[in-house]
This record gives sequence, C-alpha cells and structure tokens, in this order.
Amino acid sequence: MTSPMFEKIALVGIGLIGSSLARVIRREGLAGHVAISTRSEATLKRAETLGLGDSYTTDAREAVRDADLVIVSVPVGSSGTVAEEIAPALKKGAILTDVGSTKASVIAQMQPHVPEGVHFIPGHPLAGTEKSGPDAGFAELFANRWCIFTPLPGTDPDALERLSEFWRRCGANIDTMDPQHHDMTLAIVSHLPHIIAYNIVGTADDLESVTKTEVIKYSASGFRDFTRLAASDPTMWRDVCLHNKDAILEMLARFSEDLAFLQRAIRWGDGDKLFDLFTRTRAVRRSIIEAGQDIDAPDFGRQAVEHPAKG
Ligand code: NAP
Repeated sequence: MTSPMFEKIALVGIGLIGSSLARVIRREGLAGHVAISTRSEATLKRAETLGLGDSYTTDAREAVRDADLVIVSVPVGSSGTVAEEIAPALKKGAILTDVGSTKASVIAQMQPHVPEGVHFIPGHPLAGTEKSGPDAGFAELFANRWCIFTPLPGTDPDALERLSEFWRRCGANIDTMDPQHHDMTLAIVSHLPHIIAYNIVGTADDLESVTKTEVIKYSASGFRDFTRLAASDPTMWRDVCLHNKDAILEMLARFSEDLAFLQRAIRWGDGDKLFDLFTRTRAVRRSIIEAGQDIDAPDFGRQAVEHPAKG
C-alpha cells in the first residue's frame, strides 16, 4: 500500500461537501489521520456514527492542530470567522483551502487571518446536489467534475501542485483562474440558475388561480426540473447571493434584458425569433453532453444516475 499524501487532514465543516471529502479521502487512502470538526454537537455525532474520520471535535482549533491540509467547508458567510478561529493553531507549511462557491469574498474574509508560512489556496469544486448534511455526501461526488483554484499572487507552486494532486485523486479535473473571473463565471453557470429556480418555484407557490395540488400533480411538464435546484440549502444560497452580489446583479440585468426580448417576441408573434433562440439553446445542451457533464437520457439522467451532480 502506498503512503498517504498527507499525515493529517482536518475537515472543518462536515456537511455535503466535507463528508464527501471524508469518504473519498478514506477510499483513496489520502490521509494518515482525518480530524473532523463541526459547529454543532448533533452534526458531530452524526459524523461519528457514520465513521467519517479518526477524531471528532466541535473545537475547530483542536482539529487543525498539526494538520498538513486543512479544508474549510462551511457556508461562505462564515469563512472569515472560521479562519480567525483556526489561525493560531495552523501548522507552518500547512496548506489551507476552502470549497466555497464564491471566491473574492472568501479571500477577503480569510486571507487577513492566514499566518505567515501557511499556504492559503482558495478552491471550489463544481460538484454538489440539493441535499445537505453529513448523510448527503458520497465518495463519487467529485468524479469528472471541475475543481477551480483561484491562487493568490506569490502562491508556492509546490503547494498548489500538491493540492491539485489531492483533488485529482478525489476524481476531479483542475482549473485555475482569478477570483473575479471565477465569480462572474459561476454567477451565470450556477448562481443565476438557482435564483431563477427559487423565483419560479416561489411564483408558482404564490399563485392563486392554480391550486398547489395542481402544481404538484402536473409538475413533470417542466416545473419539476426547477424544484430540484430550488430545494438547495437556504443558508448556503443566502450566503452565495450576499457574497457574490455584484456579479449576480450584472447577470440578472442581462437576464432581464433578454427576457424582455423574449417577451416582446411572444407579444408580437415573432415565431422566427423564438425558433432561432430555441435552436441555439438546444445546441448548448448537446455541447454539455459531449463534454461529459451530463448524460443524454430522458429526465436529465436522473433515473439513470443515482447521484446527480451540479456545480
Ligand atoms: P452543508 O451540507 O449545509 O454543511 C455545512 C457545514 O458547515 C456543517 O458542518 C455546518 O455545521 C457548518 N456550518 C454551518 N454554518 C456554520 C457557521 N456559521 N459557522 C461554522 N460552521 C458552520 O453545506 P455544504 O453543501 O457542504 O456546503 C459547504 C460549502 O461548500 C459552502 O461554502 C458552499 O458554498 C460550498 N459548495 C457547496 C456545493 C453544493 O452544491 N452544496 C457545491 C460546491 C461548493 P453544523 O451542521 O454543525 O451546524
């Protein structure tokens, strides 16, 4: 058996992402010891019952002591508080990373607390589901998904390569970009779709002319596909909206303009415009399947894939 990549990995936060990491770390033998820390006794107990690590504590500082790799997997709005809490216990030479869905804000919150000699490398695996908590995780979550790093100027190339290798062994493909570009890209591929889903499901829920039982009963005609996104964790998505505000507002402005164009085409019976747009968008779906980011099965592959992954 090969020796583990890291002597000790500390997972701060053990929800969907943290527990998926715990499971793949164990499967691949990536750590000699996995220390788990989470805010609440209840979640910690659950992680222990599931056997996700080697040691368990609600004291994040205790978990990160002597760790070679520390992965913070908490809602983005809490990343600064967590960084402040663990900073005094971080080992010199350790790699500190996160999995947060927004990057500029996480960097602004965490970086000021990072001690000299600790390699802080912000990251974001584009993999997830609408579920949360330690029970929701699974070892295959990151397989063939992208993990994006937004390294800071002066990042140690060896530390970056070690962290990249870790994520590759978790099954992910690696990309790097600057934090602003990440936030703008994710605003369109992930944040806007979630906001649209929350909005459409909210609108349907508010409708008085159509009953709630009808909305549920006839949901397979399209509505159902939005409800999966709209079932995503409220804390996580509140934080994403608050912490990627500028990029999201920019994308929402463009979206509203394009929606007005569509509205106009419908009002004026401009079938050609509608047909052209719908043809263009169909090609986007084909490109996603060709890139291996979904499968060409009915129902968006949900019948065929046990755990649908999203970004
Ligand atoms: P999750 O399943 O809800 O788990 C959240 C974890 O963070 C739990 O351990 C929770 O602890 C802890 N936590 C919550 N609030 C906290 C606070 N105020 N201070 C300290 N710890 C706190 O969340 P997740 O889906 O794993 O998401 C974690 C991170 O991954 C987020 O930054 C999210 O943006 C990012 N991400 C999520 C997805 C996705 O699809 N879910 C995909 C990519 C990246 P307790 O349960 O003990 O309270």
